[in-house]
Amino acid sequence: MSKTVAFSKHSVNVFFHILTQCNLKCCHCYINRDQHGNNTLSVETICAWLNLFVNKTQNANLIFLGGEPTLHPGLDKGVKAAREMGYSSITIDTNGYLFHDILNKIAPADIDFLSFSLDGATPKTNDRIRGNGCYEQCVSGIQNAVTSGFKTSLIFTVSNENIHELHMMPALLSRLGVDRFFIQVIGIRGKSRGKPAGTDNDRLQVDRGTWMSLIPSVADQAADLGITVTYPKVFLNDADIFECAGRVAENYFIFPNGRVYRCPLCEDYPLHSFEIKDNTLIPREKINEQDLFALNIAEGCVMNKLVQSGNLSYREDGTPDYKIACCLLKEEVPARNS
Ligand code: SF4
Ligand code: SF4
Repeated sequence: MSKTVAFSKHSVNVFFHILTQCNLKCCHCYINRDQHGNNTLSVETICAWLNLFVNKTQNANLIFLGGEPTLHPGLDKGVKAAREMGYSSITIDTNGYLFHDILNKIAPADIDFLSFSLDGATPKTNDRIRGNGCYEQCVSGIQNAVTSGFKTSLIFTVSNENIHELHMMPALLSRLGVDRFFIQVIGIRGKSRGKPAGTDNDRLQVDRGTWMSLIPSVADQAADLGITVTYPKVFLNDADIFECAGRVAENYFIFPNGRVYRCPLCEDYPLHSFEIKDNTLIPREKINEQDLFALNIAEGCVMNKLVQSGNLSYREDGTPDYKIACCLLKEEVPARNS
């Protein structure tokens, strides 16, 4: 059985993009250098910015992101500084190339998870989305991490380009020794918004019937193999209450140009809630994303309606068939130990 992970004001989730540079050019990459900058933060700046968020709560969770965060030669120093500051959990998201010998520069105890990204269960599907050779590189990165004693997780971003292979993932992850499986849903932002040749938004986004019939059953399969699964709720049932994480949770999406967003769906626009200047977190004047969080609409998430409405459908009288959940609302299926 899955359970909804409730939003909380008592923990802080920090999604820290320490650079936007990457060795890959994935079709659905959400990084938008015009909006997020092109710079690489120094280790000193990383530490100063980490300090801005850790004192907000006893329970601060940190995810190092890029671009590709292992391209940063000082990532190991950032990780160790975050541990010393008291972050409760630390994750590094990686495309699997594991640059700068990162596995030998940090110890398994320094982080909670190394989180790999694979968008297909076969090289054919994954590499069409992420680039030639990525599948083999990512699988070999996972194997090296598991052998070295790191806990690993895997993120699979579901779209109509790869959903046909999702059911093959639990067996693959079990074989590789991956501990957690994060099923993500395609966001129409960054490159996806730019509509790569031969695709359009409607074609990338998965419809409600397909999502509801497939995602929970794949999650159950993985849980039966001893893997904890998290997936976004996306489509609310009539009995579900809509909540915007921007209003009821503490999530911070930090970019190297100093922009700090509360909502990932706003990241293509200069709507950020805060900016960091001279290592100080400064609230931005209106209008910003928080003005959007305050709107109540029949479709649920306002930003979903504005930027990726291909997942909505309507009755003849113009009312929506269902609400779309906050993109940060997750279901979790705990591992069932066999
Ligand atoms: S690995 Fe991540 S940051 Fe790099 S291109 Fe792919 S999605 Fe973008
Ligand atoms: S995704 Fe929608 S509901 Fe969630 S924080 Fe953004 S605007 Fe709010």
